[in-house]
Amino acid sequence: MLQKSDPRNANIKIYVDGEIVHRNDAKISVFDSVVQGGDAVWEGLRVYKGGIFCLDRHLNRLMDSAQAMAFVDIPSKEEIRKALSATLIANSMTDDVHIRLTLTRGKKTTSGMDPRLNIFGPTLIIVPEYKPPVYDNENGISVITSSIRRNSPNNLDSKIHHNNLINNILAKIQSNVAGADAALMLDNYGFAAELNGTNVFIIKDGNIFTPHADACLHGITRGLVIQLARENKFHCIEKNISLTEMYSADEVFCTGTMGELTPIMAIDGRKIQNKSDDRILPRLIQAFEESIHKYTEKL
Ligand code: PMP
Repeated sequence: MLQKSDPRNANIKIYVDGEIVHRNDAKISVFDSVVQGGDAVWEGLRVYKGGIFCLDRHLNRLMDSAQAMAFVDIPSKEEIRKALSATLIANSMTDDVHIRLTLTRGKKTTSGMDPRLNIFGPTLIIVPEYKPPVYDNENGISVITSSIRRNSPNNLDSKIHHNNLINNILAKIQSNVAGADAALMLDNYGFAAELNGTNVFIIKDGNIFTPHADACLHGITRGLVIQLARENKFHCIEKNISLTEMYSADEVFCTGTMGELTPIMAIDGRKIQNKSDDRILPRLIQAFEESIHKYTEKL
């Protein structure tokens, strides 16, 4: 299902490099590093009732990614908080909003790869849009397994939340062609890594499992779900998960800021059949919904 843009987004204002302008006037240079080499890091944030969910965790991950990429003159978390606040105020936005926060290595003096061509400092971009959770969380989604492998630390470490999303986009194209909602990506050993834009969990015999964060993004929602599961006395274990284990799980779901917690109802045509009659996912969803207030930071 292709998500349509909310009509309220027609006149939103965007933050680009210190200015807040109408979306039609929001532009970056063709010499910007993100155009030249996808050389940028990003976060997806969700606004609930006037605050941003898990903001500190997202900003820490952004800082870690920028540090790993050796960005120079990285804005502080406080500077980014101020820019986020100004952008939301300029749009009178308080709820039901998703923010795409991007920090590029900045404009270059001439086209090229070399970061020494970046003498202007990073470019901060904040795109806030009215956007409900992307998936049908009532009825769930179906997925197919992609032939595109998710990056391992051998090539491009998934611990960096960077803008080189081509392998995930190729996987998403495969799921589109197959008529599925998303693509399950495997790691180099053939174990499940994550979906093309969300993390994945299975539930079997009352226990909750998720792949090690070796070849998947260490998702903020993933981390919170592990935390909430353990606080609610469930066994939640990170382990290698084969496709057979995915197919025969009692419940499968994915997690992400864009979609929250979404049941996966079918994988490669296998319907997920809960044989335990003890549904844990609704309890995790409830724990997640109850946690929103606690982890939402007012700006
Ligand atoms: N995996 C990938 C590949 C993603 O791009 C995202 C969202 N940025 C996620 C998982 C979910 O991460 P989070 O819970 O931090 O939104």
